[in-house]
Amino acid sequence: MAYKMDKTLSKGAFDFIDAPGIAKLLSQKKEDKFLYREIFAKSLEKNPLTLDETASLLAIRSEEGRQELFQAARDLKRIIYGNRIVLFAPLYIGNLCINDCAYCGFKKSSKTTVRKTLTTDEIVSEVKALEDEGQKRLILVFGESPLYSPDFIANCVRTVYSVRSGNGSIRRVNINAAPLDVAGYKTIKAEGIGTYQIFQETYHRESYAKYHPANTVKGDFMWRLDGLDRAFEAGIDDLGIGALIGLYDWRFEVMGLVSHAIHLKDKFGVGPHTISFPRIQPANGLELDLPYRCSDEDFKQLVATLRLAVPYTGMIMTARENPQVRNEVIHFGVSQIDAGTHLEIGGYNEKKQGQSLEREQFQVGDTRGLDEAARWLMEEGFIPSFCTSCYRSGRTGEHFMEFAIPGFIKKFCTPNALLTLAEYLEDYASEKTREEGRILIGKEMEQIEEGPWKEKIKERLKKIAEGERDLRL
Ligand code: SAM
Ligand code: SF4
Repeated sequence: MAYKMDKTLSKGAFDFIDAPGIAKLLSQKKEDKFLYREIFAKSLEKNPLTLDETASLLAIRSEEGRQELFQAARDLKRIIYGNRIVLFAPLYIGNLCINDCAYCGFKKSSKTTVRKTLTTDEIVSEVKALEDEGQKRLILVFGESPLYSPDFIANCVRTVYSVRSGNGSIRRVNINAAPLDVAGYKTIKAEGIGTYQIFQETYHRESYAKYHPANTVKGDFMWRLDGLDRAFEAGIDDLGIGALIGLYDWRFEVMGLVSHAIHLKDKFGVGPHTISFPRIQPANGLELDLPYRCSDEDFKQLVATLRLAVPYTGMIMTARENPQVRNEVIHFGVSQIDAGTHLEIGGYNEKKQGQSLEREQFQVGDTRGLDEAARWLMEEGFIPSFCTSCYRSGRTGEHFMEFAIPGFIKKFCTPNALLTLAEYLEDYASEKTREEGRILIGKEMEQIEEGPWKEKIKERLKKIAEGERDLRL
């Protein structure tokens, strides 16, 4: 039965995007070497930046300034986050959609889109295929349709968690779906989801109106902007924000994202868990004139600036980006990526090469499989991690913990990354990846101080080699 949405906004809801203020800051700021160095230092001390300071970083135009910015972002990433990159995969459940977002392959007016919603059996078989690749973390993605009610989404989550194939299991399910009402979020939270992600697409109202027709549900800017506030009211404290880069000036969107992060922190005491910054990709029937496309060079500045502006927030770079871009940008503070991604609905079972755009939302830029991506990360000096430990131990607000508890990353995050990598190597990796992975684990273990804690990690690694699974700290 179709779900009837209660359109009440959250308590005290207001439009926290000060567009004239943002525009003024962006036009007034000039590049200033002494100032931006002070701001880097503030950020490296783990202090979130103000909008004013963020605008000063966005004013950097010289090559020298950009290089310094990139280095500051690299330093922040290494010093504060360590060298883990968390891996996940998106699972598209259905592409029915009542909206008509001009950039999306699922939009209602697209006649050539092949519409499909996975049945429960099909979800099971997709999840088995994902588990057989070694995936542990999924994000379920939905179009917006009355059929995709909170009960329907909750059922999907339950199904995903119930699937077991060999040693495989999905240990964390995140959601990317339309904004809901408070009751709807509660229904989904009850299934034990991780992050609820909603991208504002653009924080610039006029551009928002241009790409999202007023007579559609998504045409309501404020309903969407308030979407995560209602989620928090419903008890979901793990929130993901994002902007679709290319609909308006990328500098404005960075200021919008930072405004959103500041708003959530001010109102609820918890900032967003993750920030996403997808760039528009070719999609079925997409013939858009996009004057605000963000170049690869600007994209690097965007990511590095965000890293410094919100040091407490995880950053997600998706497989929309091609391997060359991923290779560079991963060093600027990204903490999560998807890999082995298939966007066709039902695509994980088909395992076919190439894409059929009429069956998916947009074109993927990085089509490498999970094994290859894991190897790539190791070659770049990262630990591929499948860790879900904090979330499953009830340690919510995990990013906060990472920073707030001295030594938390060293004590918990790095060893847990190694344990989950060891499991992956045993069960799913190719010979080559396994070999590289074992060398990496050996090197990382050498860095860990001798003592009872290290013995504990060693013992768990031994047990994993002997066939035990899901050992964490
Ligand atoms: N339908 C829900 C919604 O719109 O919020 C769920 C998410 S939608 C399936 C996932 C995200 O994909 C959108 O929020 C949008 O930012 C992004 N997206 C849509 N079309 C895209 C394109 N052509 N290229 C890159 N990303 C796109
Ligand atoms: Fe529908 Fe989401 Fe695509 Fe918009 S972005 S057309 S709401 S699936």
